[in-house]
Amino acid sequence: MPLEAGLLEILACPACHSPLSDHTADDIPELICTGEDCGLAYPVRDDIPVLLVDEARRPA
Ligand SMILES: [Zn+2]
Repeated sequence: MPLEAGLLEILACPACHSPLSDHTADDIPELICTGEDCGLAYPVRDDIPVLLVDEARRPA
């Protein structure tokens, strides 16, 4: 299920406050930070973005 329309526009990376980009790989939705030098990937669980740095996947 897609995220609620408009939700992405009000979400920002808690680490660097850059906009987030919707991204799904292998049927696992994530929100990817668009900030340079950041790029953290936040999980989406039950259609709710988990915007916690501790939960984010670090870019390779
Ligand atoms: Zn960021």
